[in-house]
Amino acid sequence: MKLDTGALRYLTTEDWRVLQAVEQGSKNHELVPTPLIQQLSGLRSGSGIHRNISTLAKVGLIAKVKNAKYDGYRLTYGGLDYLALNTHRKANAIYSLGNQIGVGKESDIYITASPEGRQLVLKLHRLGRISFRTVKSNRDYLRNQKSGDGSWMYLSRLAAQKEHAFMKVLYREGFPIPEPVAWSRHTVVMEFIDSFPLRMIDSIPDPGKLYAELMDMIVQLAKRGLIHGDFNEFNILIKEITTESGKLRLEPILIDFPQTVSTNHVNAQMYFDRDVTCVKRYFERRFKYTSNEPGPLFEVAIKGAEADRRLDIEVEASGFSRKMGKELERFVEVPVGKQEAEAGTEEEEEEAEEEEEAEEEESGVEDEDAEDEGEEAVTVASELNGQGTPADP
Ligand code: ADP
Ligand code: MG
Repeated sequence: MKLDTGALRYLTTEDWRVLQAVEQGSKNHELVPTPLIQQLSGLRSGSGIHRNISTLAKVGLIAKVKNAKYDGYRLTYGGLDYLALNTHRKANAIYSLGNQIGVGKESDIYITASPEGRQLVLKLHRLGRISFRTVKSNRDYLRNQKSGDGSWMYLSRLAAQKEHAFMKVLYREGFPIPEPVAWSRHTVVMEFIDSFPLRMIDSIPDPGKLYAELMDMIVQLAKRGLIHGDFNEFNILIKEITTESGKLRLEPILIDFPQTVSTNHVNAQMYFDRDVTCVKRYFERRFKYTSNEPGPLFEVAIKGAEADRRLDIEVEASGFSRKMGKELERFVEVPVGKQEAEAGTEEEEEEAEEEEEAEEEESGVEDEDAEDEGEEAVTVASELNGQGTPADP
């Protein structure tokens, strides 16, 4: 799904209000009927709301859907992207949007910049895009949910909220992770780490040292009540730092937190061991490095944990509740033994894509993704600074 910001420039204040109204209406309605859009937008009748609706539909921010009883509109992922961008721009979190630097398993990653010119990363969560394997069986459940708010969007929001909540406490506690800057809907803005994923690094001078640091990170997280849950070579970024003495130091930075779990989780031991094994295997395969030491062991790691310094408990209490965590986990849990590196077979992914296309045809939304792939995203600096917009509802 490409983020096309072309229309950001010319949407009017009324267009934005109508877009927000569709978002708001989506919380209780699968299709938001026009009279409700009118009402929620706070625009007077006869103010040409049909024109706003048609503008938004034309650029694909909302989509017309028919059901047995009435016609209505629903928010598209594009519309959600715009709303999030707009919130970030109004909060002065981001000023311009640059190139796409990553297409993760369940996200799109863009370079952005703050008004002061600081380089940042915008992560747009896109749950259900590729890993249909894990969510497919739950589709019917999601379809039957009362909340019509596109279920993928709902889950993507949860994922972003969770990621931001965990990043905040981890960063504050000095863990080596990007600084979280802002969160809106399905997006997180964070510090850009000038680095390479460990996956792209062929050789390192002292693998034992990095190995020990990574294992220590896993242990330190567990001591604070957390297990990353996807601790692999794609989610460990390596920053190269030249020290004062001119030596090269490799600093690992951990990213990607939507699947983080508490050390109280019923499968905590399994998640912990899986993170450990993942690093072990990778170092053996890639760097031919095998540690003499066994472990680390889960029981040992959590032994020193102090109850009042538990970050899992803090996050739960501060907004991302256990219930939300459960809901998200139900759909995104990585099956045992399968991880990002080996997610989904091609067949499954093709099948999922076909299904997605079929769905979009049904709803009249086009997926322009397919043909555009590989094309460079264009820098659209300053385009984000378009029309003034009303406050979020
Ligand atoms: P996913 O859940 O889709 O795997 P990630 O958060 O792991 O998403 O990000 C995908 C990729 O984007 C990473 O492997 C990394 O290359 C890049 N990336 C993500 N966040 C940052 C960041 N803060 N700084 C630099 N690169 C990043
Ligand atoms: Mg990742």
